[in-house]
Amino acid sequence: MTDRSWSDGDGTDRGGFVPPGGGSHERATRRLTVLSGPSGVGKSTVVAELRRAHPEVWLSVSVTTRKPRPGETHGVEYFFVDDEGFDRLIASGELLEWAEFAGNRYGTPRQAVIDKLAQNVPTVLEIDLQGARQVRESMPEALLVFLAPPSWEELEKRLRGRGTEPEDVIARRLEAGRVEMAAEKEFDTTLVNTNVQDVCHRLIALMTA
Ligand code: 5GP
Repeated sequence: MTDRSWSDGDGTDRGGFVPPGGGSHERATRRLTVLSGPSGVGKSTVVAELRRAHPEVWLSVSVTTRKPRPGETHGVEYFFVDDEGFDRLIASGELLEWAEFAGNRYGTPRQAVIDKLAQNVPTVLEIDLQGARQVRESMPEALLVFLAPPSWEELEKRLRGRGTEPEDVIARRLEAGRVEMAAEKEFDTTLVNTNVQDVCHRLIALMTA
């Protein structure tokens, strides 16, 4: 049986929805913001704060083949699926973008994003660099925000301090982090993550500008 539990999370009725095209496509995607940046920079903390302080913003819940970390709940941080489930989502075109990151795959369910944008709901995707590049291609009106650490040393410290990953995984994430840091100029703007509330304020200001 196909695991479709990932797509049922927000209770939105998607029956018969026709994706917008032409001028309405531009209007619908203007509210889309992509938040990206190296692993360990604090994207998920920023997203959690956004969720708390700005319930009017909708945060896409990604699908991943990664195993849940302690405290993570299916349907909240991610929809956790196995490899076969992820393959099926790719094959059926249900992902807006997807990427392999440090040994696991991650993707954004397409329909939920299209529905929220059609309803004019401010929408945030918290995704990696490869995903951000795909969104730039398919939805050029999206605002791409790069979340940067105060310094490389700080990033390394945060990644290790999290204590959730073994050393080999940390090494892979740091390697990916170097590539992500080098891509900062591809983004529309950069926010330095010195303080989570501050970053949230600045992000909301950008989204409503
Ligand atoms: P983590 O395993 O730490 O939760 O996430 C690892 C990386 O995957 C992070 O950089 C995160 O932004 C990224 N990521 C999470 N969801 C998605 C997604 O749907 N698509 C892509 N391309 N990357 C994602």
